[in-house]
Amino acid sequence: MDLFKPMGSANEGTEGAPDNKELQVKEHHKCLILGSGPAGYTAAIYAARANLKPVMYTGMQMGGQLTTTTEVDNFPGYPDGTDGTAMMEDLKKQAERFGTEVRFGMATAVDFSGKVKKVVIDENTLITADSVILATGATAKYLGLESEEKFKGFGVSACATCDGFFYKDKVVAVVGGGDTAAEEATYLAGICKKVYLIVRRDELRASKAMQKRVFNTKNIEILWKHQTRELKGDQVVTSVELYKNRGEPNEEITEIDIDGFFLAIGHTPNSEVFKEYLDTDETGYVITVPGTSKTKVPGVFACGDLQDKTYRQAVTAAGTGCMAALDAERYLGELE
Ligand code: NAP
Repeated sequence: MDLFKPMGSANEGTEGAPDNKELQVKEHHKCLILGSGPAGYTAAIYAARANLKPVMYTGMQMGGQLTTTTEVDNFPGYPDGTDGTAMMEDLKKQAERFGTEVRFGMATAVDFSGKVKKVVIDENTLITADSVILATGATAKYLGLESEEKFKGFGVSACATCDGFFYKDKVVAVVGGGDTAAEEATYLAGICKKVYLIVRRDELRASKAMQKRVFNTKNIEILWKHQTRELKGDQVVTSVELYKNRGEPNEEITEIDIDGFFLAIGHTPNSEVFKEYLDTDETGYVITVPGTSKTKVPGVFACGDLQDKTYRQAVTAAGTGCMAALDAERYLGELE
């Protein structure tokens, strides 16, 4: 589910801009942060320490994507690993310790056309700000199965780098045929006993180089023309039921035993609401000035997975969150 939806203008006005005729400005802030993943909280820590008095709106999924994973072993500073949700709670406390005001709410429309930025929260509250840090992340695509929802964090994951280690010497399946699926399958193959790659067509979308890596990895078995029907298990996933040749005369249903099921069918950056004002690439990722968090709108900064389709790690998101706060601080300093 996307965090944001475009509000659109019911009456006259620019399409996608807030229909704020009825809305009075409730508050004005120096620095508004949208999104509460590692990027948003890190931006908040830095902005609060710089006395920018940041106000954060968390989005629908407080804590972001990490709250859908169980353990986090690769974030520096946790020698024994930590729980994704607990880590985000720690980051929240750290941001609040320096004065960040964390509020539950979602940006439903923005107007970045003027020097003062306008953001509508939950379709009913208009906030203005001198600077806005966008940290709304990306949402992993899921197949939409009920059983997939049930086993999220208990055998179902959308991040091999986060969760792969917990499947050491086990059997897992990866769904998808793009670069992410190929990358995740080869990564998992280095950890797991066996990796099934479930591909809905009879070819991969991944680049030739990535395909070659998959084909040359002995413990990856590609299940061509297979689609997921249902995941099975009691507390955790133990098998997956698949359609083979779905919709064709020779369609059949098969079942394989697995310990883990990884989605790699793409991510959707949560940029829909800002798209009208910012440059995005063909898949919706916000484009920033290289080496900075600056978007094409002065005073609007983007960090985390919203602008990163390559690394997508908690630690890289945190790093860009820090950059966004420093960039905002500099921008606000120049305004004064
Ligand atoms: P992608 O290229 O959009 O591929 C998604 C894959 O998932 C496709 O194979 C697609 O099948 C499959 N899929 C989609 N919906 C499905 C469903 N409901 N059931 C089964 N399969 C489904 O996404 P991506 O792999 O995440 O890559 C996104 C972008 O990031 C690409 O531009 C990619 O090149 C880039 N990327 C680059 C690197 C790298 O350079 N190291 C690594 C990762 C990603 P079909 O092929 O049948 O459509």
